[in-house]
Order: sequence, then structure tokens, then C-alpha cells
Amino acid sequence: MRITVIGLGNMGAPMAANLAAAGHQVTGFDTAAPMPEGVSAAASAAEAVQGADAVITMLPNGAILRAVADQIVPAMPPGALFCDCSTVDVDSARAVADQARAAGLGALDAPVSGGIGGAQAGTLTFMVGGSPQDFARMEPLFAIMGQKAVHCGDSGAGQAAKICNNMILGVTMIATCEAFGLADRLGLDRQKMFDVVSTSSGYSWSMNAYCPAPGVGPTSPADNDYRPGFASELMLKDLTLARQAAESSGAETPMGAMARQLYEDFVQHQGGAGRDFSAMLTRFQTDRS
Ligand code: NAD
Repeated sequence: MRITVIGLGNMGAPMAANLAAAGHQVTGFDTAAPMPEGVSAAASAAEAVQGADAVITMLPNGAILRAVADQIVPAMPPGALFCDCSTVDVDSARAVADQARAAGLGALDAPVSGGIGGAQAGTLTFMVGGSPQDFARMEPLFAIMGQKAVHCGDSGAGQAAKICNNMILGVTMIATCEAFGLADRLGLDRQKMFDVVSTSSGYSWSMNAYCPAPGVGPTSPADNDYRPGFASELMLKDLTLARQAAESSGAETPMGAMARQLYEDFVQHQGGAGRDFSAMLTRFQTDRS
């Protein structure tokens, strides 16, 4: 297939490289990042989508996605598939899908979980909104870039699933970090804390797979001086999307709101900017009494 990838940053570049390595003809466009191996560069977004069977976008936010959609939708061949894999607000996902379908294109929102490591290894999870037909067309490409793709429902359902998942992730990471902070004060050894919790009812992905305490559990960003990984700013972005979605839908999410506030304070005032989101542990090591 002829595939275009727009947005070749930390995630888009390895996704594009995996598609090229699988034998697809991949063209890329990015306003700043270099092209990965096997991907030919286009001079503009509109040029990049010429003749494409499928276009994948992997961009920072909904406003940029909407701006890029305005450039590429008129330039895409009729019947081509527009698959946005960025994490954006549900409203932007639905607006871009409507715009694409009105132009005779297929449209999916397909945000991912799995981080940079998953993008490089081709083991991402895709959560997908759109028609069953468009999902089926994209499945072979999801299978190259990931290990699982779940069709969640109509347009926007992929972003809804992503926001809910990451709200749980933010809350459980903070709960895990504050529990380590409490354990420290109580004189409990961190390794013992991990041994108990990781096999007891307090277990979670944050504790078991991504332990925020250095030297404890499997290797994680905590063992690499909290270099991201998944940056605190991106967690703040996702928790802000969750709050906006809760407000517009009337859902009550007090834990999500608290997590968002704590990540905002961490990023803006407590040295969290540029650090992995599990560095939240350091906030609970600081004596605030
Ligand atoms: P990134 O900042 O590394 O990459 C984004 C790329 O988009 C950059 O290279 C930037 O130059 C490019 N870009 C910006 N505006 C553009 C435009 N108008 N036209 C073309 N290119 C443009 O970000 P990332 O970490 O690759 O994340 C991309 C998306 O994936 C985000 O929505 C993020 O929330 C989501 N995501 C990231 C992770 C992660 O662990 N990094 C995990 C899951 C989901």
C-alpha cells in the first residue's frame, strides 16, 4: 500500500519505520522532525498525501490535527482512509471524521497505548472509532504497528477509551506514589512494599509494570533518572482532555480532577516538566509539613 504518515516525532517515526520495513511505500511529512529510514520526505502535508491509500496522523493535539486536516482532506484521493492516531479531544476527532467522510474518504480515530517502546517494537494497542468497514481496511496496518486493535464504536469512541484509560493511569500512578511516600515515613522497605503490593489487591500497571521507585520492580523510567517514557506534560494533557470530556458529558470524575490538579502543580511548580510521569514519586518525598 501507499501510506502517508504526518507527524514523525517520538511515536510517528517508529510507526512509519515499521510500516516501511514491512514493505509498504511510505511517504512522510513533519514540520521539524527528520524522516526515519525507509520513509521518503514530502515538501508539504498536501503533497505527502498525493496518491495515498491510507494517511496516518500522529500529532500533538486537536488544534494541530484540525489544521492539518484542512490541508490534506481536499488533497487525498477519493476513497482513501484517514486514520488519526494522535491523542486528541473527542470533539476534534468527530469533527475531522465528519470532514473526511463529507469528502468521500474513510475515517478512523485510533489513539494508541504502549508508549515509545511499544511504537518501536510494533506492540501498540489501538483503540479505534469509526465504521466496521474502515476498521477492517486498517486492520492489516494495525497488525504491523501493534499487537492489538479494539474497535470501540463510532467516531470518537477510540478517543473516549483512551481518555478513560489514561485517567485511570494518572490516578493509579499518584496513588502508588503517595503510598510509597507513606511507606517511607513508616519505615517500610520499598522492595518489601513492592513484593507485597504487586501480588496483593493494591496491584496495578503503575506498580507492577512501571514501578515509580528506582531499583524496585522491572526496569522503568525511574531507573533512568525519570527520563520519559511518558512525559508528565502528556499525562497532564490527557487528564485535561478527560476533565473537558467529563464537563461536556456531565460525568462526575472527582479522582480524575484531583489527579489533573496534582499533575498541573507538578509540571508547573514542582520540577515535573520534562520528566517521566512516574517522577510524581519525588513530590511525595519532599517534606511539606
Ligand atoms: P512528538 O512531539 O514527539 O511528535 C509530534 C510531531 O508532530 C513532531 O515531530 C512535530 O514536529 C510534528 N508536527 C507538529 N505540527 C505539525 C504539522 N502542522 N504538520 C506536520 N507535523 C507536525 O509527540 P509524540 O510523543 O510522538 O506524540 C504524538 C501523539 O501521540 C500525541 O497526541 C501524544 O499524546 C500521543 N501519544 C504519545 C505517547 C508517548 O509515549 N509519547 C503515547 C501514546 C500516545
